[in-house]
Amino acid sequence: MLLVTGGAGFIGSNFVLSALAATGEPIVNLDKLTYAGNLANLDALRGDARHAFVKGDICDRALVRQLLERHRPRAVMHLAAESHVDRSIEGPAEFVQTNVVGTFALLEEARTYWLQLAAPERAAFRFLHVSTDEVYGSLGPDDPAFGETTPYAPNSPYSATKAASDHLVRAYWHTYGLPALITNCSNNYGPHQFPEKLIPLMIHQALAGKPLPVYGDGQNVRDWLFVLDHCTALRTVLERGRPGEVYNIGGSAEMKNIDLVKTLCALLDDARPRTGGSYADLITFVKDRPGHDRRYAIDSRKIQAEIGWKPQESFQSGLKKTVRWYLDQRERRAA
Ligand code: NAD
Repeated sequence: MLLVTGGAGFIGSNFVLSALAATGEPIVNLDKLTYAGNLANLDALRGDARHAFVKGDICDRALVRQLLERHRPRAVMHLAAESHVDRSIEGPAEFVQTNVVGTFALLEEARTYWLQLAAPERAAFRFLHVSTDEVYGSLGPDDPAFGETTPYAPNSPYSATKAASDHLVRAYWHTYGLPALITNCSNNYGPHQFPEKLIPLMIHQALAGKPLPVYGDGQNVRDWLFVLDHCTALRTVLERGRPGEVYNIGGSAEMKNIDLVKTLCALLDDARPRTGGSYADLITFVKDRPGHDRRYAIDSRKIQAEIGWKPQESFQSGLKKTVRWYLDQRERRAA
């Protein structure tokens, strides 16, 4: 049994669905259902006894304690977070609360639970903390990609709170021996993403015939990973990762935002041609995000060499599947 936090969000719901399909291991899913959480992401699991959904806050220590004692998970997969950089600039307090205080609450309760497990279960227990490449800051055009030992240099309130939570997790391993692992992943894309994020936002805007807002000059580079490849990586780290270690996860798919939007437009032009021109005609440049990191790139050689994970999707194949998924969703809603 796994305790997953944030399992109604984008990556969390993909993780719950794919892990259950792959292994059938029961999951308790703790999610506060903020604006980013959506139970419809888990519709396929309605009536499935292997999945127990609990609406609640990771900061609620009594609830976390009760869930650990009742379900006795072999691992905590911690994905719950406030995750949108723009929102962290507008209002950082919620980010400190969930990402820092919430992670602390989970660590404390996990440590108490872990200490009273019998020796074999204690040795097998894992706390997997899901984090981001944004903790490493921004790269110049020719800098090497982020490795596991790249110094932290978070630039936004979001990445600063994720960095703080990573440090707490690391400290719980070093100080108390809690068998924790940290993963730092690049930008994810795929089904079930909240429409404020770049790819679903662009698809929704394009299909509505509305402007496609690209920040600044569109030259910011992100390294993209298909969400189900991330989920496989998380399962691989859970089963084969060494406690106390950090694993960087990435798709080796660096792309400028403007090129990504143009690629999306071309896919949409094929799948759903627009009368009167290409979707690319809708691209408009808008005022840049304050402190916008220029480039992220992940060096994922460690997870590939040490525990044998590598992504299955190329950027092209993953993006094609993603566009198809959003188009199918729209058709289903319209029917
Ligand atoms: P998301 O915003 O889509 O989902 C977050 C989920 O957490 C939501 O379901 C929300 O309801 C829940 N949540 C928020 N606060 C909570 C609280 N206090 N208690 C319980 N649940 C709470 O985020 P995501 O994109 O799925 O990201 C998941 C994790 O992966 C985050 O930790 C994020 O930092 C990390 N990550 C995301 C990306 C990405 O590209 N999306 C990349 C690397 C790492």
